[in-house]
Amino acid sequence: MRWSSESRPARSRWYPVRGRLMAERRHNCPGRCGRTVPLHLLACGPCWWRLPDDLKSAVNLAYKSRRTNPIGHRHAVQDACQWYSQNPATPRSSAVAGSVEGA
Ligand SMILES: [Zn+2]
Repeated sequence: MRWSSESRPARSRWYPVRGRLMAERRHNCPGRCGRTVPLHLLACGPCWWRLPDDLKSAVNLAYKSRRTNPIGHRHAVQDACQWYSQNPATPRSSAVAGSVEGA
């Protein structure tokens, strides 16, 4: 039996994803560390702090003005993702991140 979207309890924000209950939507961290982060964050903590200060402040500024300047926000995020693709997480740091992630 398949549930239509109308029959799903409207108050529940929990929904099954591949057999697990997920409370929020997540995306892969652009730092290639293997973690996932909530959609409203660009990257996980360790990867965010790896980002050069000028890129961090550009993303922060663009995030604050994303309602009035969504293109600028997208460009700042793209610049940061480009930096991550050139500076991926090292195997050592991703191993540490994996142990922190736990179950
Ligand atoms: Zn990361």
